[in-house]
Amino acid sequence: MSITLHVVSKRPCRLERGELRRVSQDRKMMLLAYHLCCPRCGFVNAVFNQHQGQLITESDDGEQVTFSAPIRCVYCNVTIRIAASVAELEEGPDVRNVRYR
Ligand SMILES: [Zn+2]
Repeated sequence: MSITLHVVSKRPCRLERGELRRVSQDRKMMLLAYHLCCPRCGFVNAVFNQHQGQLITESDDGEQVTFSAPIRCVYCNVTIRIAASVAELEEGPDVRNVRYR
């Protein structure tokens, strides 16, 4: 299942499924992380740049975000691969059938 993600500037607690938020919000500042609201369950995960092999790259306009490594939603365990702001979801055997909200 592939889902197009959207980069938004809402507060992390207001993110909706499939939304990404840059940290810091000022694009002139260093990219520290992205908040990703899981497209599957709605939990907001923090994905840190240059941490545990993760390298996050952005297009010049900031709309296309790529994560070098797949991430795992902390809440529902789905595996999410993100390239050019398109997420591919992989539901392994240990995925949890839950909705965060
Ligand atoms: Zn999830």
